[in-house]
Amino acid sequence: MADAVIGDEAIYLDYNATAPPRPEAVEAVTAAMREVGNATSVHGHGQDAAHRVDTARRQIAELLNCSSGEIVFTSGATEANNLALHAAFSHDKALVTTTVEHPAVLETAKALTAEEPHALVLLPVDADGLVDLDALYLALAEHTVAIVSVMAANNETGVLTDVSSVVKAAHEAGALVHTDATQLIGRMPIDLAEIEVDLLSLSAHKFGGPQGVGALFMRRDIALPYRPLMRGGGQERGWRAGTLNVAGIAGAGAAAQAAAFGLAAESARIRRLRDAFELAVTAQLPYCRINGARDQRLPGVSSITFAGAPADAVLAAMPEVAASEGSACSSGAPGPSHVLLAMGRSREEADATVRFSLGYATTERDIDRAVHATVRAVRQARTAMAAPP
Ligand code: PMP
Repeated sequence: MADAVIGDEAIYLDYNATAPPRPEAVEAVTAAMREVGNATSVHGHGQDAAHRVDTARRQIAELLNCSSGEIVFTSGATEANNLALHAAFSHDKALVTTTVEHPAVLETAKALTAEEPHALVLLPVDADGLVDLDALYLALAEHTVAIVSVMAANNETGVLTDVSSVVKAAHEAGALVHTDATQLIGRMPIDLAEIEVDLLSLSAHKFGGPQGVGALFMRRDIALPYRPLMRGGGQERGWRAGTLNVAGIAGAGAAAQAAAFGLAAESARIRRLRDAFELAVTAQLPYCRINGARDQRLPGVSSITFAGAPADAVLAAMPEVAASEGSACSSGAPGPSHVLLAMGRSREEADATVRFSLGYATTERDIDRAVHATVRAVRQARTAMAAPP
């Protein structure tokens, strides 16, 4: 199915924007859409719909190793991030997050603290994109912090955060921890019995489920004031009112189950493909820089700056490769990547950066062809830049 979705000749390396729908997800969505039933209705149709939702809730909980009752379905990670921060923020306390978060966290954090800008602490990252934990310890010492929100994996560079260390320090200081794990879930194993975050956001389409459905994990024993964004019929224990998106949720569950199967081995396979891609590209092209901590990255992400080759020209010169300039989420927003700038890159370097992201349907052949296309496209873009107008 993924092949059918992508086509024979296209090389899809934009999993961080969205992953190709998994066949299991397509089947679950279609099956649910062939039935009638509101998951809150008491008759048989409603109960069948409720059963699909229960199954999906269990499948998502299994992927995270948490309990089903800790999952609140949302319209995606954007909503999950908004909900987490709205619920956990407190006007008399600080909100700590990082300079490299997705706008769904950054913009929400800014809006919540608009009236008290000193209540927002943005932790810097180093040149490798790693969050400065000393800055976190200082923030926790200097402020009374309500919530620390750190992304588990960066969408542009794949750089991973040491979430366990964040949890330890934040909990000692009495703060809650939220992690935007949108890019990590379904790509690397995670165990919420071990990583004791209080809140975690995910989005189904990043691991082969449908777009427009996600979830917020809310740890059972945390005390959060009841502050939903959507009020209404009381669905999702009142945390997210509105008729449940049964088909989308069923697809999310099926994708979670498929992603969980053999995940550690699949993660290692993707890492080998990514490493082979980087080795081959950098061996053939001088003046490339791979962005992000080499061994603290998601296995499938490769952010490469090709000096002297603007990313838009590189992408235009290899139409068969679907990759991204910086982040697809912020394309549309003018200006260079805030993530690369936060890592100390210049505007010019940021504009010469391409993000390749691999996933479950990526093959060795895709990578061989992508290497060839990338080398050709970068040489072409560099020649065009060097040519007199
Ligand atoms: N957080 C991160 C890290 C992301 O990469 C994305 C999607 N690009 C989101 C949040 C938002 O997800 P969605 O658009 O599915 O709500």
